Amino acid sequence: AQVDILDVIVLVLLLLGSVAYFTKGTYWGVAKDPYATSGLNGSASKKGSRNIVEKMEELGKNCVIFYGSQTGTAEDYASRLAKEGHARFGLSTMTADLEDYDFDTLDTFPEDKVAFFVMATYGEGEPTDNAVEFWEFINGDPPSFSQAEEDQPLKNLKYVAFGLGNNTYEHYNLMVRNLDKQLTKLGAQRIGAAGEGDDGAGTMEEDFLSWKEPMWAALTEAMGLEEREAVYEPVFSVEEREDLSPESDTVYLGEPNKNHLENMQKGPYNAHNPFIAPIAESRELFTVKDRNCLHMEIDISGSGLSYTTGDHIAVWPTNAGLEVDRFLKTFALSEKRDRVITMKGLDPTAKVPFPTPTTYDAAVRYHMEICAPVSRQFLATLAAFAPTEEAKKEMVRLGSDADYFKDKVSSHMLNIAQAVSAVHPGPWSAVPFSCLVEGINKIQPRYYSISSSSLVQPNKVSITAVVESIRIPGAGHVVKGVTTNYLLALKQKQNGEPDPSPHGLTYAINGPRNKYDGIHVPVHVRHSNFKLPSNPSKPVIMVGPGTGVAPFRGFVQERAELAKRGEDVGTTVLFYGCRRPTEDWLYKDEWEEYKKALGDKLHVFNAFSRETSRKVYVQHLIQQNAKLVNDLLQQKANFYVCGDASHMAREVNDILAQIIAAERGIDEKKAEQVVKSMRSSGVYQEDVW
Ligand code: FAD
Repeated sequence: AQVDILDVIVLVLLLLGSVAYFTKGTYWGVAKDPYATSGLNGSASKKGSRNIVEKMEELGKNCVIFYGSQTGTAEDYASRLAKEGHARFGLSTMTADLEDYDFDTLDTFPEDKVAFFVMATYGEGEPTDNAVEFWEFINGDPPSFSQAEEDQPLKNLKYVAFGLGNNTYEHYNLMVRNLDKQLTKLGAQRIGAAGEGDDGAGTMEEDFLSWKEPMWAALTEAMGLEEREAVYEPVFSVEEREDLSPESDTVYLGEPNKNHLENMQKGPYNAHNPFIAPIAESRELFTVKDRNCLHMEIDISGSGLSYTTGDHIAVWPTNAGLEVDRFLKTFALSEKRDRVITMKGLDPTAKVPFPTPTTYDAAVRYHMEICAPVSRQFLATLAAFAPTEEAKKEMVRLGSDADYFKDKVSSHMLNIAQAVSAVHPGPWSAVPFSCLVEGINKIQPRYYSISSSSLVQPNKVSITAVVESIRIPGAGHVVKGVTTNYLLALKQKQNGEPDPSPHGLTYAINGPRNKYDGIHVPVHVRHSNFKLPSNPSKPVIMVGPGTGVAPFRGFVQERAELAKRGEDVGTTVLFYGCRRPTEDWLYKDEWEEYKKALGDKLHVFNAFSRETSRKVYVQHLIQQNAKLVNDLLQQKANFYVCGDASHMAREVNDILAQIIAAERGIDEKKAEQVVKSMRSSGVYQEDVW
């Protein structure tokens, strides 16, 4: 009887939307194919396909889920909604990258269909890269729709909205708030509340989960839907290929696309096509044994990639061997790790998130974010495939009880293989590989603020990266950052250091088919608005504790070079912070060199937080130098902050307002307005993460 009850609970859970249909948006979308050059997947760019109304008609869809995504989370939520909408409510869903459509036909969107908008807000209230055009269109005054000329051109459009934001930024969830206002103004009808997820409070996933249930209820009502019993349906077919071996030259062993597979690496290099760049030089910046900070010089010559000081470089990581092994073992894939598989979408809009044929090993090592935090909803899905009834029961509990999940999984920072192994050591051989691919995000490149000046070294990009290593008290394990530990291993190998596998982590350093041999790493460059003033005589104030100093090394390097070339360079103030001068003072000797070129134009203020019993942070030094800061601001200085978004950046903002109030004898409210207008006019810039 217990078993029956359990089965019922599983079904109910599935029914209640914990179906954990977590896929990357690309699976369900007719979105841009990240591997378009592989020629394996259909491309959305065929003529006429930018008309979403036509596209939905052609594919027989009645629900589209648009996403504006920068790091993949919004895209992931869009896919989960698509799967859930289909499984529970029989909607015929698709996801869509906002970049892939035009929106002038939204006024012809049929009444019996629905459009979802899952919108991330990026940086200072900006749209994500893929949402820029949509944003400009919808905020047009008025937007020019294909037919309607009336006041309420979107009166037939039913929409659902969820935003992803971070409350530590001033313009919290601006995208969804603004979109909601604009759509309402144009006559569209929102179904349910506009949801808001908060990354700053660390509650994004729970915010999403608690928003979607009432939303589904409202949608059921508005569209006359009927909820049905949801059962797991795979999104992909997985065919094991006896006719191919890993040596076959059509098999992807981690190559990002067809050009790479065929040894014809060619540009343009971008977020869909990395350049396999040589690391010219790498070294350790800290002097203590248990912490690492890497300086790397990445050579982009001949690639066609370019950067300007203040831009970001993205590094495409490879998972550590230890984690790949753990994952394959947990899901009973170790024995067949090198078997060749072809995966295909079972729905015409479903896209495999990596090129195939490939091997289980390559898919897991190069394309799946296997170390990331676990999603509660995904554990509920996996319950159906648990090896024992006990394990199923536990997975159901973890999936449905947020506090229990926090206690057992998220507070220990377990990854998916660790989380399921803690429930049952496995093997979890019944879990379909499609389910794993659907439920685990596509691995994301990590961004780094370039720490060199393009004026000084146009073909070499510097990175300053602290190696992530978090010991979990009482849990007996250490969470190792995916990318930074991979970079650490590259540095160790490059310098012939005795321990080429730091912390027991080994990597496929030579890459697929030895294509990264000779210390190479896949990268692309992302241009940013974080820029020095075009007139070098303008003063600048920079606040960058820890690795937040990265772009400022580039800024100071650039101003020193300009001074050497005889330019009139304005006062250059840097507030820097670290623990101790003997441990982690980044580029300690270089500042002396820059001082030689910039003379008394350069002021570096150092805050050491562990040198004395009094913890000194950059905020204190800014306060101590209130007069200098205010004087420079009145001389039209630019003000920059880089580093920790959650505390430091916000505190610096507040301190600046206090300084302005005290020095100018105005009240704090007014001073806050001054800081706000500095932000909106681009005088106050942040590069925070
Ligand atoms: P990840 O594997 O991504 O882990 C990062 C963190 O996620 C961990 O520390 C932990 O807190 C959490 N986490 C990981 N796994 C789990 C789990 N299973 N459960 C719970 N929590 C988990 N960094 C720099 O050092 N220098 C820079 O100049 C720099 N510039 C940046 C610029 C921008 C615009 C952005 C967005 C970020 C920048 N970063 C910079 C941060 C950088 O992109 C990476 O986030 C950082 O290096 C960590 O990457 P990782 O892959 O090593 O760690």
